[in-house]
Amino acid sequence: MNTKLVQIDENNIDQTSITEAGKVLKSGGLVAFPTETVYGLGGDALQKESSRKIYAAKGRPSDNPLIVHICRWEDIGQIARNIPEFAKKLADAFWPGPLTMILEKTDDVPRETTGGLDTVAVRMPNNKIALALIGAAGGYIAAPSANTSGKPSPTRAEHVVEDMQGRIEMIIDGGPVGIGLESTIIDLTSATPVVLRPGYITREMLEQALGCPVDVDKTILDGNSKQAPKAPGMKYRHYAPKGDLTIVDGKATDVVEMIRKMSAERMAAGERVGIICTDETRGMYNAHCIMSVGARKDEAAIARHLFAILRQFDEEQVTVIYSEAFSDRGLGQAIMNRLLKAAGHHVLYTDKQEGM
Ligand code: AMP
Ligand code: MG
Repeated sequence: MNTKLVQIDENNIDQTSITEAGKVLKSGGLVAFPTETVYGLGGDALQKESSRKIYAAKGRPSDNPLIVHICRWEDIGQIARNIPEFAKKLADAFWPGPLTMILEKTDDVPRETTGGLDTVAVRMPNNKIALALIGAAGGYIAAPSANTSGKPSPTRAEHVVEDMQGRIEMIIDGGPVGIGLESTIIDLTSATPVVLRPGYITREMLEQALGCPVDVDKTILDGNSKQAPKAPGMKYRHYAPKGDLTIVDGKATDVVEMIRKMSAERMAAGERVGIICTDETRGMYNAHCIMSVGARKDEAAIARHLFAILRQFDEEQVTVIYSEAFSDRGLGQAIMNRLLKAAGHHVLYTDKQEGM
């Protein structure tokens, strides 16, 4: 298939391209497009054939449901029912924005879109290109992240081209995304709301908007949990670079010391070593590929850069990667959740170095 690549400026949207992309979606084709979180791989959410094509293009297991993107609150009634008051409160506080709500689905939403579930994930993205496209496509775009299943989510159009060239009808290049991690997912189908995937909207922000406690799915940070995560997608290994990634946690100076020592050993053994560090520590390492996520205090920058760095390591063909650990509070919870998944939960603690 010939994939058409079009550039659209978010601040000066070319309506002709949007109309063309909308037609592709309405006729059952796939279009990748930017959102504020990551690039999405869109198909018409109400056509089961489109959802099937999305799974095929990504190589995604078909029990892993898709998020349906809308551009107007009023449209939610066609895809969700028994909508609790919480949903409107959260929409008022965070939409358009990086929050996905799980609600009961209507019969209009095919099970192909929801991975066989009776619930549907809904989000209104905060990107003008995405919102215009959803409108042009008839109001409902099913869109998972536009990466091959298992790879880091795309944060630039080049990443989408790498993964989707020849597999879909069109890719819209709207420049690099602003947030860089996928949306927070909150389940609103039971009495107490539950965060199923951490993201830019933190539990604290949700509790404040709702005025009540919010639970967090226990499997999120616990790699050893035997329970199945409630968001089916969270059970799969994700975001994985080809190199073998290990996170090193502990006191900052000890972390640097331990990574320096292990990198030297692995390089001496002929491995190509990559390191994920911060601006404060980048000068302290010696390796084939040293990538800073930004200043340690700037969590938004860490979120924005993480996936592109993981992809860069593949390009540099590193075989071993060490990453400094980051704070797991606030936005850090989402960052560490993705990093832990990328590392298959492989963490070394500097204070347990003895006897390892
Ligand atoms: P992606 O669009 O690639 O960010 O993946 C969508 C995520 O939303 C996956 O982790 C899914 O498992 C999750 N998800 C989508 N729909 C539902 C649902 N109805 N219930 C629980 N999780 C869902
Ligand atoms: Mg994804």
